[in-house]
Amino acid sequence: MYQIGIDIGGTNVKIGLLDETLELTAEASIPFPHTTAVDMAKKIRAAVLALLEERNASLSGVESLGAVVPGSIDASGETVLDAHNLDFHDVPLRRLLQEQFPGIPVYIANDANGAALAELYKGAFVGCKTGVLLTLGTGLGGGINLNGKMFNGGMNHGVELGHAYLVDGGEPCTCGNHGCVERYCSATAIIRMAKEAVAQHPESAILTAVNGDASAINAKVVFDAAKAGDEVALTVFREYVSYLSQAISSIMQFLDPEVVVLGGGVSKAGAFLLDAVRAEVPKYLLFKMMPHARIELAKLGPDAGIIGAAMLGK
Ligand SMILES: [Zn+2]
Repeated sequence: MYQIGIDIGGTNVKIGLLDETLELTAEASIPFPHTTAVDMAKKIRAAVLALLEERNASLSGVESLGAVVPGSIDASGETVLDAHNLDFHDVPLRRLLQEQFPGIPVYIANDANGAALAELYKGAFVGCKTGVLLTLGTGLGGGINLNGKMFNGGMNHGVELGHAYLVDGGEPCTCGNHGCVERYCSATAIIRMAKEAVAQHPESAILTAVNGDASAINAKVVFDAAKAGDEVALTVFREYVSYLSQAISSIMQFLDPEVVVLGGGVSKAGAFLLDAVRAEVPKYLLFKMMPHARIELAKLGPDAGIIGAAMLGK
């Protein structure tokens, strides 16, 4: 039997088949159809049938289907309340998918929660019961596993660690508040800090790497320049690590998890980022001499959404 996982993003919809050993055995991607959600559900059905056919299987061989979206889901697990990148507002996504896959259990969830669930089954959370995943991308998503299960909040809205408060009177956020964690700990934050820094220090290797075009700066360019020893990039990197470590220490004080996992595009900086954060976090902790949560990199990378979606039915 197969589990189907669907990761609906603003640019494409990724679809995967997981076999009985929970291995991702086939994968397809279709461009996100900027039409109706009904039309998208039909396109998903066609793509799933094609994937199954390639493996001489049919819908009768499917145990469950899950889909994740970058947005909030209502308490009953039926409706996408808001997913700005998809322009989904009050979309009854579970029912629309169910209509395309009659007889198969269908589930929907927030994508960061899905990624955390995937890490629980197959990744950095294996062997521990309580852990937090931070996806450091364009925004900052968070997922919490509590006592071996995905924690979706008391009101079922999911956790919004990216919009926890970090800096008094800080940067305006897309959510309407100021100073959110996301404004200081995402890839977008690194880019903003780097642009401010190169405006003061145009001699920086950051600007050289983008041929003088500050609009082309991304997180990788900044971290690469920092790794190469550029002082301006190192200042941005240290500032970023400081903010991220403050956010992580708050999570540790609040939840006392066994592990905090860093995922998303920024985490591709690997040991360079991990070592710096591991060194910085204890500065902010209450019990400096006591063991605290391990800080690790996510293991699943870009497939985490598909795998987590497929796990929703497990
Ligand atoms: Zn916010």
